[in-house]
Amino acid sequence: LSDRLTSTFRNLRSKGRLSEADIDATVREIRRALLDADVAVPVVRAFTGAVRERALSAEVSGALNPAQQVVKIVNDELVGVLGRETRTLRFAKTGPTVILLAGLQGAGKTTLAGKLALHLKGQGHTPLLVAADLQRPNAVTQLQVVGERAGVPVFAPHPGNQGLDDVLPAGADPVAVARAGLEAARQRHHDVLVVDTAGRLGVDGGLMQQAADIRDAVDPDEILFVIDAMIGQDAVTTAQAFADGVGFTGVVLSKLDGDARGGAALSVASVTGRPILFASTGEKLTDFEVFHPDRMASRILDMGDVLTLIEQAEKAFDAEQAERMAGKLASGQDFTLGDFLVQMQQLRNMGSIKKMFGMLPGMGQMREALDNFDEREVDRIEAIIRSMTPAERETPKIINGSRRARIAKGSGTTPAEINQLLERFDAAQKMMRTMARGGGMPAMGGMGS
Ligand code: GDP
Ligand code: MG
Repeated sequence: LSDRLTSTFRNLRSKGRLSEADIDATVREIRRALLDADVAVPVVRAFTGAVRERALSAEVSGALNPAQQVVKIVNDELVGVLGRETRTLRFAKTGPTVILLAGLQGAGKTTLAGKLALHLKGQGHTPLLVAADLQRPNAVTQLQVVGERAGVPVFAPHPGNQGLDDVLPAGADPVAVARAGLEAARQRHHDVLVVDTAGRLGVDGGLMQQAADIRDAVDPDEILFVIDAMIGQDAVTTAQAFADGVGFTGVVLSKLDGDARGGAALSVASVTGRPILFASTGEKLTDFEVFHPDRMASRILDMGDVLTLIEQAEKAFDAEQAERMAGKLASGQDFTLGDFLVQMQQLRNMGSIKKMFGMLPGMGQMREALDNFDEREVDRIEAIIRSMTPAERETPKIINGSRRARIAKGSGTTPAEINQLLERFDAAQKMMRTMARGGGMPAMGGMGS
């Protein structure tokens, strides 16, 4: 999906003002990219229509940076379709909360049962898993294995597991097992019951009815529809079939560790209007995340969390200060150490600098550098600049040996560290000059070190 979008947005970014033709070209690329990612056609149509309308509006033409505004609109619309807020599990007011898992065979239900159990246990709940998939011979054993890994008991229709000696005999029907599981959860004071069901190969057949019967027997608080993120165009028909056949309150996207960019997420969320609660990202029980609509939007846009970064920057950087800085640079004045100091303080407002670097795109390969990044470094830089006189901040060239020694003493650093900072500042200053010429985002330049 996103290589093309990335280059589209890059082209857009180089423009100061957008024509209707620019916007149409961008919308066309977005449409093509979404179709490539197997987002359903009606979803793509509705989405691009909304983006185009907003992009042509005053919201964009009046903006300081119209191109950036369009990127934000695309992101905003994506987040809107994906659900905006993270939706958490709903728990029953009394008695055990019942969570029913439904989905095609191989979607990842049984694996999810273990992940959910571990997740719930971590939150202080006392889940019980119920093996109501009696379709495949191995299904019960598979659930017992994940239950054991999660350290959570499994209610299953044959004796000899987890000390449950009152279980139903093998051969019992799944509805009876689910019902007995709920009874067991009540008696043993488990506050959550997770019911694993049989997968269906296709969307038709009696197994859909079986899931509906189980639903009627246990009256779930949540029915989670588990869908493989790699499913492609079939996402819509599958989701629709489950919505009609069983109904569901939420969605879990599985196998997000694969190549899928999240086209299925967009289709399912858009077509069913149901929130996505969790994402499964691997075969291990810990490969499990609460679903964040905004992060998925970024994933679809493949921009790291660059938009979050932009928003935080907008919040943290005093707009007036940014404009003053932009004006100063535009008029050919230099970026000074004093400005550098102000920016350092503003960077600090943005929260952990390390976290911020993590949000920049293309940082995946720079993990090591990131891990070595020391936030105390910023403290040192600040201390050094604070130990300079206003004249030294304005014109670092005047810093000679004795001044350097004084600054080092004042800031508790060494003359070598002062030199290092001055060199880095020099590089940042050069970058600021370049950015001022290119009309880039001057407030971000302080990070260049
Ligand atoms: P079920 O038929 O719906 O119960 O699906 P399973 O839980 O048995 O999963 C089917 C296969 O997909 C198994 O081999 C799982 O290990 C694998 N699987 C499940 N979830 C994920 C995931 O998030 N990522 C990856 N890579 N594999 C998964
Ligand atoms: Mg299963």
